[in-house]
Amino acid sequence: MTEQMFEHTLWRKGNKFAVKVLGAEDPSGHSPATAAVYGNPQNDCLVRVHSRCVYGEVFESDDCDCREQLRTALQMIDAEGAGVVIYLDQEGRGEGLRNKARGYAYSQEHHTDTFTSYRALGLPDDSRSYEAAAELLRRLGLTSVRLLTNNPAKVHALQENGIEVKRETWTVPVSEFARAYLEAKRQYGHMIATGQAD
Ligand SMILES: [Zn+2]
Repeated sequence: MTEQMFEHTLWRKGNKFAVKVLGAEDPSGHSPATAAVYGNPQNDCLVRVHSRCVYGEVFESDDCDCREQLRTALQMIDAEGAGVVIYLDQEGRGEGLRNKARGYAYSQEHHTDTFTSYRALGLPDDSRSYEAAAELLRRLGLTSVRLLTNNPAKVHALQENGIEVKRETWTVPVSEFARAYLEAKRQYGHMIATGQAD
């Protein structure tokens, strides 16, 4: 049975875009995967698959690059006239806000990076899943995308779920506070040039 999808429109900076929300209940209580669809996206359009970050996106913390990644993706997709931003309720690399806060507290007490802290707390480096994102892309008729990311694991995960992915090179403005976080991500496999934070 095909999963239900709820659809409506919203406005952003004078432009209308479509919102599509997968309708399945998540027993874990997470919000469903959501797509913001700009224009009439075709294969090889720009796509951002973004995981929730309350600290960066709501509190506007400068300690990570999440808010700027999301904002840059929206600007690039809006400028191109077509594309998709998929938003996933996966705080703290899939470990939830409670564990993310535990990780931050550990990092600040022990002066460790986020990955070291997660490991010290017995948490996996990254337990995010991209099946729902791939499902949403398929429902939009997309089987091949230009993905805005520097995370090879995300590229592989979408490919494993049947989406052909080309990684789109992009530069995201980074605050000086987030540089340590980006350096940690680079050491753990993200494709971030050493000078990109400048
Ligand atoms: Zn963040």
